[in-house]
Amino acid sequence: MHEIGLHGSLAVMKAPNFYASGGIDRAAHLRADEDWIRQQIEDRAARIVPIWRTQNLVQPGEQPAGITVEASRGLLMGAGSVVFLGLIEEIAHFAADFSAHEDPPLTEHGQFRDMRGIGQLLSHQEGALLVYARATIQWHARHQFCGVCGSPSVSRDAGHMRKCTNPDCGAEHFPRLDPAVIMLIHDGGDRLILGRQRNWPPGQHSVLAGFVEQGESLEDAVAREIFEEVGVEITDIHYHSSQPWPFPSSIMLGFNARATQTDLKVDLNELEGAAWFSRDDLLASPENNAFRLPRKDSISRRLIEDWLGC
Ligand SMILES: [Zn+2]
Repeated sequence: MHEIGLHGSLAVMKAPNFYASGGIDRAAHLRADEDWIRQQIEDRAARIVPIWRTQNLVQPGEQPAGITVEASRGLLMGAGSVVFLGLIEEIAHFAADFSAHEDPPLTEHGQFRDMRGIGQLLSHQEGALLVYARATIQWHARHQFCGVCGSPSVSRDAGHMRKCTNPDCGAEHFPRLDPAVIMLIHDGGDRLILGRQRNWPPGQHSVLAGFVEQGESLEDAVAREIFEEVGVEITDIHYHSSQPWPFPSSIMLGFNARATQTDLKVDLNELEGAAWFSRDDLLASPENNAFRLPRKDSISRRLIEDWLGC
C-alpha cells in the first residue's frame, strides 16, 4: 500500500493501476556492470521474456510462457536487442527481441499475442512485466539511429541507453516516454463526460485523454484537451493516479476535474461522440455494442469506478 499526502492529510490509495508496480527490482545500479550482466545471462535459471514483432509469448490460458536462458540459448545468440529488466525473487529477467525470425519462434512454449488484446486476462505482476519488456524492445527497434547526426546507435547499460557510434557526436539516448493526461470530468453532481472514437470496438466509451504538449503543465493539458474535444471549461483539477501505457510509450496521468458549464460542443474530427452519463447509466451499463465501459486494465475504468465508489 502506498500512502500519499492529499490536502494536508494522509489518504491511502487502493491497489496500483494495472501495468504499474509489478514487483520487479530494476536494480538500475547494476545495469552498467557488464561482468555482472554477463554472469546473469549465462545463469541457466535466468528468465527470458521473448518479444516477436511487439507481441509477447503466452501459454494457453494467457499465462506468460516461462522461458529460461537454458530453453532459449540457441535463439539468444541471434536475438536482436536484449534488455536487463530487473530481478524478481533474485532471478534476473531479460527481454529479448526475436523479431528477425520470419515465423514466430518458441512455439513449443506458447503463442505470441498482442498485449492490447489479452492484458486484462493476466495477473497484475505478469501484465506489468510483459508490457515493460514489450516497450523497451520496441524503443530499441525504433531508435536504431542517432536522432542528432543520423549515425547508427548501439545499446548500452544493459539496454537502458543507446549511444551514438559517431565519435564526433557520441549522443546518449534514453527510452522515451510520452506523457498523456486522462481526465474524468464531472458536473459536481451525478454526471460525467464519456466519449468514443470511431476506431474503437463497438460501444466502447472512455473518459477523455490527450498528449501533453511542449511548454504545458499537466493542468494546462487537461484544460486544453477538454476544451478542444467537448468545448467545456473546467476547474478543481485534482491528480488521481498514473499508469504505464506502453502502446508504444505513453504514461497516462489521471485527473478528476469539474466542468463549469454543461453544454457540450463535440469536436467530431476527434471523436465520434461525447455526452454526459449519470451514475445510474454507468452502474447499469449493458456492456454491449451500444454501450460498454472502458476495458478493465485501463486507468479510464479505474477513474470511473473510483468516482462511482465501486
Ligand atoms: Zn550522433
